[in-house]
Amino acid sequence: MKVAIVGAGICGSVLAYELIKKQHHVTVYDKGSTEDTCSYAAAGMLAPVAELESANTDVYDLGLRSLNLWPKILDELSQQGASIFYRSTGTLVVAHHQDLGSFQQFSQGIRAKLPNDHQQAVESVNVLDLEPELENFNTGLWLKHEAQVDSHQVLSALHANIRKNGDWVCRHVRGIKPHVVDGEVYDWVFDCRGLAAKADVPLYGVRGERLLLHAPEVNLQHMVRLMHPRYRLYIVPREDHHYVVGATEIQSADNGPVSVRSALELLSAAYSLHSGFAEARIISMHSGVRPACLDHQPYIHIVKGLTRINGLYRHGYLLAPAVIEKALTHPDFLFQSQGQTDEYSI
Ligand SMILES: Cc1cc2nc3c(=O)[nH]c(=O)nc-3n(C[C@H](O)[C@H](O)[C@H](O)COP(=O)(O)OP(=O)(O)OC[C@H]3O[C@@H](n4cnc5c(N)ncnc54)[C@H](O)[C@@H]3O)c2cc1C
Repeated sequence: MKVAIVGAGICGSVLAYELIKKQHHVTVYDKGSTEDTCSYAAAGMLAPVAELESANTDVYDLGLRSLNLWPKILDELSQQGASIFYRSTGTLVVAHHQDLGSFQQFSQGIRAKLPNDHQQAVESVNVLDLEPELENFNTGLWLKHEAQVDSHQVLSALHANIRKNGDWVCRHVRGIKPHVVDGEVYDWVFDCRGLAAKADVPLYGVRGERLLLHAPEVNLQHMVRLMHPRYRLYIVPREDHHYVVGATEIQSADNGPVSVRSALELLSAAYSLHSGFAEARIISMHSGVRPACLDHQPYIHIVKGLTRINGLYRHGYLLAPAVIEKALTHPDFLFQSQGQTDEYSI
């Protein structure tokens, strides 16, 4: 099949990867400037349990499915020569003494949504047993099975795979219709433009900002979430004492640079977690706008010749493999059934 994908964020890139594996002839259109995309700003956490705080159990189920799919994808990419940092030591949730109310609320919220037979995914722990340098904290919550990938490394490996095994067109696409991209005809077209698709998909933007620090004095092995009544912080340890610190969540489609206020809040919270961040160097600051539907669910919409996949909101890395799997195995999709396809939303 001759297939076009518009948008090479994490959604379009994982989709291209799966379609190339299935031997389709894939053309990916992207307007370029990867560093401005939402997928480039992402911290790469694969955190289905922590996300349960604000997401529902459908997102949790898709997240668990993706947690199983990611290692296979990473393994295959590494066999092609890619080197992608992946760690599955889980997430440690902590709070300062004065914020224990937020911590309890988080803990009760996720335990209430977790199925009974998944309760063991969350364990109360002594923080120092897991992270000896977090000496200001006593009790924590360990979300054991959560993982992370280096989002930049994943994106660049997926893009290299597309360039090697498909066609890459660097262009701002103006017209997407069933079977057609800017006048070019395909057996099927996928629209994965993120927030740029908002004229065709009911989306709104949620701005997020995050920093990358190099902190040789900090040795953390787990993703750490700091509960706070006003702003939440997470720290994602990468290779060689690099730490992603994020993320703000602001109802805005503004994709401009990180604000002073956000940088101050994120950095102060990081310093309150571990004083070793005082001497850290700021390597980069990124912002992105998360494409969200009103119900915060992923969006799959299929008409004959055109599938739109969007609304990955806070969980694009977490959900992409499972959402793509769902879209490609849906019976109305051309590759399963050549018949007439009615309009269909999932
Ligand atoms: C600060 C921050 C931290 C985050 N952390 C995490 C995390 O830890 N874990 C997680 O799972 N998720 C995280 N997310 C969410 C995740 O980044 C998003 O859900 C995901 O990036 C959405 O991917 P997408 O491919 O749908 O959209 P995008 O990344 O926006 O990609 C859309 C692509 O379409 C292209 N495009 C748009 N219009 C056109 C056009 N007309 N022609 C051609 N190309 C076009 C763009 O160039 C872009 O490459 C985070 C988000 C932010 C902002």
